[in-house]
Amino acid sequence: KLYNQVQDLKGSIRVYCRVRPFLPGQLSSNTVGSIDEGNITILTPSKHGKEARRTFCFNKVFGPSSTQDEVFLDTQPLIRSVLDGYNVCIFAYGQTGSGKTFTMSGPKNATERTQGVNFRALSDLFKLADQRKGMFIYEIAVQMIEIYNELVRDLLVSDGFNKRYPFNLILWLIEFSLTEVCTLEIRNNSQNGINVPDASLVRVTSTSDVMELMNIGLKNRAVGSTALNDRSSRSHSCVTVHVQGRDLTAGTILRGCMHLVDLAGSERVDKSEVTGERLKEAQHINKSLSALGDVIAALAQKSSHVPYRNSKLTQLLQDSLGGQAKTLMFVHISPEFDAIGETISTLKFAERVS
Ligand code: ADP
Ligand code: MG
Repeated sequence: KLYNQVQDLKGSIRVYCRVRPFLPGQLSSNTVGSIDEGNITILTPSKHGKEARRTFCFNKVFGPSSTQDEVFLDTQPLIRSVLDGYNVCIFAYGQTGSGKTFTMSGPKNATERTQGVNFRALSDLFKLADQRKGMFIYEIAVQMIEIYNELVRDLLVSDGFNKRYPFNLILWLIEFSLTEVCTLEIRNNSQNGINVPDASLVRVTSTSDVMELMNIGLKNRAVGSTALNDRSSRSHSCVTVHVQGRDLTAGTILRGCMHLVDLAGSERVDKSEVTGERLKEAQHINKSLSALGDVIAALAQKSSHVPYRNSKLTQLLQDSLGGQAKTLMFVHISPEFDAIGETISTLKFAERVS
């Protein structure tokens, strides 16, 4: 019983809400009424022209003017626990355009000040590992994968992949959804914490190594999309950081891992308007986001059955969700009036898992 209590203290789920600022040139009324610590009030128009107010409560709400630095501050303690051998998952949830990629990766051509959670997390890992030099020896390695239509693809394959297949053939294969030829298996019986053993695992020793890898990953993600077809908003991308530390005095090995997940856009598509490939994508996204919601809600309610098997995403993250693992979700909302429907459904999703 005591063991369970300790587990409860160690494991945790936290949910943060982040509101995107209005973008330059965007003219619209603001649906965000007020923000007070963990509370956010949304203004919705009612039939009689009067405004209705709805308040949602989270661990914290970051308003439109909050900086990348402020948003990362609460994440920092999680980085330390990865070095102590815990597993951590950090998610970005929200409709397309609400700021998920901004939070995780920063804007295009990010500077040190505008870098997102991914870079800051890795940079902190290196810093903390360095402070423990003499007591621990750490090895840090990174994988980067994408889940699209319930298929898992390696995003760090630039060389091997491009050498084996001519570029046009790759484009053709991806465009015609024959990606099965290069999809990977998820294994949950891994002893070393590596759930996708066939995805490239790249050792990193500095933030510049990490930048280089992230750029390869971003390029590979872009291969699957055209101007009219931004696939990145319809796939989940996951950077997994594996940390192995040898305790030099005790001689023991600690293993921790951190998943940094930029989820597919959560917007509902109108089933009467999409067909074929788009409908299939939408169904896959819907299924995997609800599976994620079900898993986190089951964990939050300390339910005895946690339905990990219902999607590739939850299978992949199984040993980093629940138990002693720590979970942090950033839910993103757009402030503009047009987005009100999605804003409410995003906040309802978030309320359910927190
Ligand atoms: P998503 O990944 O959810 O589709 P993006 O992160 O691409 O959304 O954000 C959409 C646009 O809004 C981008 O141009 C991005 O740079 C901008 N943006 C998002 N969040 C912020 C923010 N907090 N501050 C400034 N610009 C932002
Ligand atoms: Mg994005």
